[in-house]
Amino acid sequence: MEIEKGQIIELLKQVIHPEYGKNIIDAEILKEVTTSQNNVHIVLGFKRKNDPLSDSLRITCENKIKNAFPNVVLIIDVIEAMVHTLKKEEAPNRLANVKHIIVVASGKGGVGKSTVAANIAVAFSLNGKKVGLLDADIFGPSVPKLFGVEGSKPVATKIGGFDAIEPIEKFGIKIMSIGFLVAPETALLWRGPIASSALKQIIQETNWGDLDYLIVDTPPGTSDIHLTLLQSITIAGVVVVSTPQQVALADVTKAVEMFRNEKLNVPILGIVENMAWFTPPELPDKKYYIFGKNGCAALAEKYHIFLLGQIPISESICENSDKGNPSVLNLSSIEGKAFAELALKIEDKINNNLI
Ligand code: ADP
Repeated sequence: MEIEKGQIIELLKQVIHPEYGKNIIDAEILKEVTTSQNNVHIVLGFKRKNDPLSDSLRITCENKIKNAFPNVVLIIDVIEAMVHTLKKEEAPNRLANVKHIIVVASGKGGVGKSTVAANIAVAFSLNGKKVGLLDADIFGPSVPKLFGVEGSKPVATKIGGFDAIEPIEKFGIKIMSIGFLVAPETALLWRGPIASSALKQIIQETNWGDLDYLIVDTPPGTSDIHLTLLQSITIAGVVVVSTPQQVALADVTKAVEMFRNEKLNVPILGIVENMAWFTPPELPDKKYYIFGKNGCAALAEKYHIFLLGQIPISESICENSDKGNPSVLNLSSIEGKAFAELALKIEDKINNNLI
């Protein structure tokens, strides 16, 4: 009986390269097939001749062909050849199934940007949304602490032959932070371009899966990291966090100008005034404007930015953050309600295209 080339190719389509997750034809391992009567000659090409998988794949091919054609005279050659499967540009887009990416930014450090990012992520999740949180504050990652998951080590895997990192899950949120991957001292030594490329790699390699929202907590201020981030992914909008102090507001102006600059042109969803006032527990009707009154409202008006919400100063916000329990988990508290309302405003803006 004459063996046909097409029959051999059909058989070899069943041989899967375990690392690439593709059959050896799609993985460009099968280089040649020739047949003549019951003689079959196939050539398998690997990047290295002593590739650790070359033996097992050769044997699998041999078994497949011999099982189907017991009288075959088979020669399998293994050669060194170019394999293009691992080309970088073919790497899958792990953000493909993320519906909306929201960047949380601030002009200055210490204004509560990470606290707001964490609480809106939890609020979305409590509303039944699929949520991811990326801590891109590469020099001062605080998300692991805010969720009580410091010291967690994400598992590195391969999906379809490409590196993938499994995010850490807490409160139903998929969390990824540079803080899980390198010691803070190491990140502090990085120069801008290294930090930017580390961040790009984390974004590209994290297995985000299907998400309604990915919240990105960025470093304070305006930096190359922002440029890299904002140019490499499509953002639904930015949430700017500030306190009402004049010094903080001056830096917010710079951040707003960066986002609106023609090179980036990223929509600003609005501004959140954090630490807006203090109400002593024994005087629940009083509001003390410790950092100034309505500073963010004035700035919002001047720059035509929406004021998304105001969060009071509260000891419990600080305590809950330290314990890894974002305040919004307690929806009956004043702070919890303030964060929940903020999250609803943001969702409303995104879903109704109100930017
Ligand atoms: P950033 O990300 O802007 O650097 P953080 O979110 O880390 O700021 O907050 C800085 C500190 O302020 C933290 O200790 C946090 O718990 C505290 N904090 C944030 N918002 C409030 C608030 N509304 N009331 C009291 N403490 C707050």
